[in-house]
Amino acid sequence: SAKNIVAGNWKMNGLVASLEEIEALATLIDTSAAADCDVIVCPPYTLVCSLAAMKKQKILVGAQDCHVAVSGAHTGDISALMLKDAGASHIIVGHSERRADHGETSALVHAKATAIYIEGLKAIICIGETEAERDNNQTEEVVLGQLKESVPDDATPENTVIAYEPVWAIGTGKTPTVEDVAEIHTAIRKALINRFGDVGAGFSLLYGGSVKPSNAKELMTAKNVNGALVGGASLKASDFNGIIEAY
Ligand code: 13P
Repeated sequence: SAKNIVAGNWKMNGLVASLEEIEALATLIDTSAAADCDVIVCPPYTLVCSLAAMKKQKILVGAQDCHVAVSGAHTGDISALMLKDAGASHIIVGHSERRADHGETSALVHAKATAIYIEGLKAIICIGETEAERDNNQTEEVVLGQLKESVPDDATPENTVIAYEPVWAIGTGKTPTVEDVAEIHTAIRKALINRFGDVGAGFSLLYGGSVKPSNAKELMTAKNVNGALVGGASLKASDFNGIIEAY
């Protein structure tokens, strides 16, 4: 069955100048409660190398995006190979902030995931509806459409994690009900089983959007939820630990 994962997405937070604080934060992250769960921290690019070099407990290091190419004339971009070289094992792709701020399409996310597989890394592929789409009763249609188009045919539970993040729940303190989360995660699970057969049951499905220690336990017990992708609450060790302990 699917592996449990708690992943932190630091977004554009964390400075090399405060490396001591980051080392302290990484030290304070308590993976001892996570016997049955992978803990992944995805800092900005500038910290991937130093965080990976700290080799803290059992913390895996991820990045927040990558380019589709391995190298070349792409000013300001970074490749999956470079992130692997820096010590990352996972790369988030298709985060709604990338889709919104940089016009990333599911076709591009699909190409990025393929680039990640080529390096033998794992893709954390994000999908999720906007508030307007939810209000229009299009949640399932949008989410399953993004799933279909963003996830490559050679995705496996070993190389791919799916993160469902309703856009309206990100950084807002609002979350769907546990019933709503279970419903959409079950629809995602069914779509994966339809497409990939029995192995579809093995993909880890993370919920993301305003996860805090106080709501983690309830959200994590929802059917077909195998963990969390955490933004704001991953920046404080006590909050992040509280979410890890929800397992
Ligand atoms: P928050 O936990 O801050 O709502 O962010 C969620 C998120 O976007 C993680 O990728």
